[in-house]
Parts: sequence; structure tokens; C-alpha cells
Amino acid sequence: MTTSQPKLTIDRLIAELMALAKISEAEPPVVTRVVFGEADLRARVYVRGLCEAAGLRVSHDAIGNTFARWEGSDPSLAPVGTGSHIDAIPNAGLYDGCVGVLGGLEAIRVLQELGYKPRRPIELVIFTAEEPTRFGIGCLGSRMMADVLTVQQARALRDKEGRSLEDWRAQAGFTGPLELVAVPKGRWHQFVELHIEQGPYLEEEKLDVGLVTHIAAPASQRIVIEGEGGHAGGKLMPGRKDALAAASELVLALEAAAKSTGAIDTVGTVGVCEVFPGAVNSIPSRVQMTTDVRDIDRARRDGVLAKLAEAANEVSARRGVKISTELINADPPTTCDPAILAALEASAIAAGKSYKRMVARAYHDSSFVSCIAPTAMLFIPCRGGVSHRPDEYASPEWIGGGVHVLARTLALLAG
Ligand SMILES: [Zn+2]
Repeated sequence: MTTSQPKLTIDRLIAELMALAKISEAEPPVVTRVVFGEADLRARVYVRGLCEAAGLRVSHDAIGNTFARWEGSDPSLAPVGTGSHIDAIPNAGLYDGCVGVLGGLEAIRVLQELGYKPRRPIELVIFTAEEPTRFGIGCLGSRMMADVLTVQQARALRDKEGRSLEDWRAQAGFTGPLELVAVPKGRWHQFVELHIEQGPYLEEEKLDVGLVTHIAAPASQRIVIEGEGGHAGGKLMPGRKDALAAASELVLALEAAAKSTGAIDTVGTVGVCEVFPGAVNSIPSRVQMTTDVRDIDRARRDGVLAKLAEAANEVSARRGVKISTELINADPPTTCDPAILAALEASAIAAGKSYKRMVARAYHDSSFVSCIAPTAMLFIPCRGGVSHRPDEYASPEWIGGGVHVLARTLALLAG
């Protein structure tokens, strides 16, 4: 690629983002596009049409992950991938995910218009159901590609009304064996996802782009503590087995364990604590709580879980309460690929964009893509850090900056 500035027709991209936003289950500007719903299917048709108009060859897999391929001069090489998602939670905005899909398409078109011919194929990917709205599990499409969610687990998925994933995907026109969704390592040579930050820092620091070095991931648990109830007056303090008093020790133990790593990226939270029977004059007999521990380092995160388990054993023995722990999920934190980060940095410099390296605190399809290919993410600012709301906003300048850096990066990676 030459060092001349790619011609960014940002108006075209913004118009397409606005058109996509209107394909919604809710009244614009509110975007609601739940996977396999009527709006999601229409949005897929719209994006597919844009890809075909750009000369890309479009295909999809059995779960609806969609691939739009720009052939390289050596088609035998593994493609460079880019993309994100177009599904949206209820009452969302129009930039989350869509900037990575339509911005990725724009990057490809800019390269085409510059006369650039990639050696490796470049593939734009639209992942199915990054949002957990319908089936209660996020990053469904990328998770299945990476085989982190097995076919057996996928077949068991149901929506709130009990309708199965199998039923929904068949109605959406995605057939074929789910066994074919998982792909081997190396499916992409490298993968880079453009996304809004969903946090306030790039805007606050007046930076054009963020180069994501790590993607944090949560492990969450359900903990049930069973003690012994009784009258708050009748039963004296000696010999009590107060479930909430035991739970309180665990809340503090989690806080201490998270702080004990000394790393700013380790966070631990108890967000739910249900007390039974929940009466002013009754000793709590049972507490159910959830823990959420996040980090960018899996071993460090699992170390916090181990300390919490130790504390649970100790509290259980000392207080005579029964404590059971169930792991709800434990997704893999991601370390982004240094070679892609170097290409992103060189591209930001060449494009004259200010940048910093940063951590992604929410997880993304890239979290799972990183299990099958070297991966990195490119963030652009979003106003006030607001996301998952109708007033989510990224300016055309911010979007243009991200697409510019992405286009240069794709050209560097595809050779
Ligand atoms: Zn997203």
C-alpha cells in the first residue's frame, strides 16, 4: 500500500450505519435486534447486499456466522479476518458491533478503490448473537467456532419460552449440522476487530484510537450457604448458625482476595445476595449469592477463586454452615497478538492518529476468536463511555479514524 491517504468516504459509511439502525424491533432511534428475530434477519440481508455490491463472496455456517471474502492473489493462504456483530440488546444504540462490521466493509472498499490487491484473502465476519438476549449466553457464534461451547451444549439452549436454538436457527434459514461450526486453529491467519470503547477513557484523553492489549473475562459462581434459622429473640448468640453472617465473611474474603493480587486489573464483586426467609425477627437460614471475578490473566483470576474456596471451607467448618459453590461460567481472558498490535501501531502512526494501548473490560467476539487465531482489537472513542443505550454515539471523525487505521492494518497483515 502506498503512503497516500486512503480516500475515506465516511458519508457512505455513516449513511449505511443509519440505514442499518432503522432495521429495528423498536421505534428509531432505539435499536433492538435480537438474534434470529425479524429485524436481525432483515439486517443480515441488508449487510449481505452491501458486501455483494463490493464484490465479496458471501457464505454462512450452520449457526448463521456470515463470511464475506475478498479473494487474495494467493487464495491458498489463510485469510486475514475482521468483523464484529450486528445483533443488539433491547433498547440499544447503533454503534456497538455495527461499527466493526460496516467499518470493516468500508476499510475493504477503501483498499479496493485505492487499487490495492491483497496477497492473503481478507474476510469480513458477522458473528451470530454476540449479545446474550435470546439464549442467555453471549458470543454464541464465535464461542461455537472456537468450540468453547460444544454442540451438545448448543442443542440444549432454550429461550425464555422454552423454544430451542435448533428451532430458531431452522426458522432463520440456517440449517446443516452444528458440528461443522467449530473450526480448526488457523482458520484465520490473524484477526482484528474494530469496536467502540464502551468506556470513557479515549474521549477523556482526547485520543483517536485504542490498541487493545488484553481482553478481561469474568468467572462467575453461585454460592449457597445453608445455616439454621430461628427466632431472632429466642435463640441466643452462642451456637447460632447464621447464614448471612457466614456470607458476610465470604463477601469480605472475596474483596481481600481480589485486592491481594496487587494488580489493578483484578476485580471481584458480589452483586446478588438473597436472604431467606428475609424477615426482621428471623435468623437467616439460607443465603444465595453470586460472585463475579474478572482479570486479564487467567491464572491470577483462578487464584482469587481458589482463595475464596479456601475461605468458604474455613468459614463452613468454624460456623457449622453448609456452603456449596457452582461455577456458572469462566471465560478465557485474552492476550492480544503482539504482531497485530505492532501493525495497528504502525498504521496509527502512518495515519497521523493519536493512540494508547489499553485493556478491554467487556468481552467481545475477539475473546473467542483468540482461541483459534492471533487476535487484537482496535477501539474508537464513544461519547461519555455510554453504550447499550439509544444515546450511544461515536462521531464520524472517530469512526473515520478507526476505519483509516483498520484499512492500513488489514493491508499490512494481508501483504
Ligand atoms: Zn459489541
